[in-house]
Amino acid sequence: MSLRVKACGLSDVGLTRAHNEDYFEIDPMHRLYVVADGMGGHSHGEVASRIAVDTIRDFIAKTADKDTTWPFGMDARLERHSNLLKMAVRKAHDHVLREITRDGSLYGMGTTVVGLLLAGQTAAVAHVGDSRAYRLRGGRLEQLTQDHTWVNEQVVAGFLSKEQARSHPLKNVVTRALGGESDVLVDVRELEVQSGDLFLLCSDGLTGMLSDADIRDRLASGRSLHEICRTLITDSNARGGIDNVTVVLLSVEEDQEEEGEATR
Ligand code: CA
Repeated sequence: MSLRVKACGLSDVGLTRAHNEDYFEIDPMHRLYVVADGMGGHSHGEVASRIAVDTIRDFIAKTADKDTTWPFGMDARLERHSNLLKMAVRKAHDHVLREITRDGSLYGMGTTVVGLLLAGQTAAVAHVGDSRAYRLRGGRLEQLTQDHTWVNEQVVAGFLSKEQARSHPLKNVVTRALGGESDVLVDVRELEVQSGDLFLLCSDGLTGMLSDADIRDRLASGRSLHEICRTLITDSNARGGIDNVTVVLLSVEEDQEEEGEATR
């Protein structure tokens, strides 16, 4: 079975910020989807998120089609494209750090990132920070990533409830970011993809304004991808729009045409 993927992405500055420091990429040829949320004063967050996304896109484009010898330590538990995505995120971290070294005025910039790379029936999802990936399957919404935030660590440890975490004064403190520590830990997971799956990548500007139930209702509405993206952003702004909001949606369906060709 081959899969057809449709994707749509939108980013909005929100209602209170002067700059949009989020950035996203949809690369249909390599089936790569990325959202990054930059941070740092004087709009340097914009620089960091763009470096990260461009680095990931370029690395995947350069290596995805080639059957080259693997130049890096490969994790044998993961498929090749998952290793590629993980390495791409590590490269993005190196590039952000390199720019900071080159230009001291960029000191303090960093970015979160969440990426999804599809190969065959398997999606690799990699992330650092509090940008998230979700999957809607059979009407049920599942968060695929664990935020690298101080409040989420407290939730996992049982010290805070999810609701307390949402309104906690330290809810924006991320514990991992590209451009932060000298080394970065990248979380990667692999998921089997099914026809009918809908994936969402988003910055915390969305999840700070809309609950998982709100997001689920909009994803399950049966509307077009573009309409859903538009609604997610409009509704985040309607709730206050205190941050930049970025959403990338992709739907996966069986490629009926190709199946038809094969049986003719
Ligand atoms: Ca943000």
